[in-house]
Amino acid sequence: MSRSRLLDRAGETPGFESSAAAPVMVQIWNLHKSYGSNEVLKGIDLTVHRGEVVAVIGPSGSGKSTLLSCINFLEPFDAGEITVDGEPVGWVTSAEGRVRMGERQLNLMRQRIGIVFQQFNLFPHLTVLQNVIEAPIQVKGMAREQAVAIGRDQLARVGLRAKENAYPSELSGGQQQRVAIARSLAMDPKVMLLDEITSALDPELVGEVLSAVRALAEAGMTMIIVTHEMAFARDVSDRVVFMDAGTIVEQGAPEVLLTNPAHERTRAFLRRIIERSEAQSELTIGGA
Ligand code: ADP
Ligand code: MG
Repeated sequence: MSRSRLLDRAGETPGFESSAAAPVMVQIWNLHKSYGSNEVLKGIDLTVHRGEVVAVIGPSGSGKSTLLSCINFLEPFDAGEITVDGEPVGWVTSAEGRVRMGERQLNLMRQRIGIVFQQFNLFPHLTVLQNVIEAPIQVKGMAREQAVAIGRDQLARVGLRAKENAYPSELSGGQQQRVAIARSLAMDPKVMLLDEITSALDPELVGEVLSAVRALAEAGMTMIIVTHEMAFARDVSDRVVFMDAGTIVEQGAPEVLLTNPAHERTRAFLRRIIERSEAQSELTIGGA
């Protein structure tokens, strides 16, 4: 079921407007980030409300991954400000101006922000359950028993409760990526950042991972999802943001942005995506 329809059932207006009433979860003001002389983010402003799912699309190199990395301060940004659930990310203002948070504060901050990448990076020598309970125990200092209970709940959420004793090498890529999602959820994040999490998967494994993400959306998780899966973006997100060359060109409800965008750059990008997927389906049909 699409998210918009769920919201309809709850008697709310679907999309952008309905979420605007919810409290702000992620606030980004005038975010700038350069690598050397390459300015990668050129003043990003973005507000994401609690429970909102925002899909970020755009050409390769437009700064999508850098944006997510700034939100949990994997990459220190040069200027601007980010808050998650009202708390500053990375930099704090003091009498001396802007100073980097201490490591302890940074760790606490990062615990509230789940991030899942294209490469799942599970520990190969640990079982599925051990992978999932590692951070709650090591980082949060949680009692093992409690971590196991939480870990099993989160594995059940992604349909992998039965695999808790398997090692990553015994799982498909789609299953490993679902474990990575469960591992992130076990830290009880306020927001989940997903960076092209299906891009490294064989096509037949994409669906099971997207279903797990859809279930999270329907459970009300706040998410920022970088994806090339346009049908998924349309189905699962409340809002689509189009980025190009380090700026947000436009954003809006998925059915508007993906079918009737205001900007030529957005139209050109969507045309290229459609051409590519048509070429792929011709290949598939030709090869069958
Ligand atoms: P996207 O995710 O949209 O493909 P990225 O955020 O990965 O884009 O990259 C945006 C730009 O930043 C690219 O020009 C890329 O080469 C550059 N970039 C990304 N990460 C680094 C890095 N660690 N060091 C130097 N340049 C980087
Ligand atoms: Mg990227």
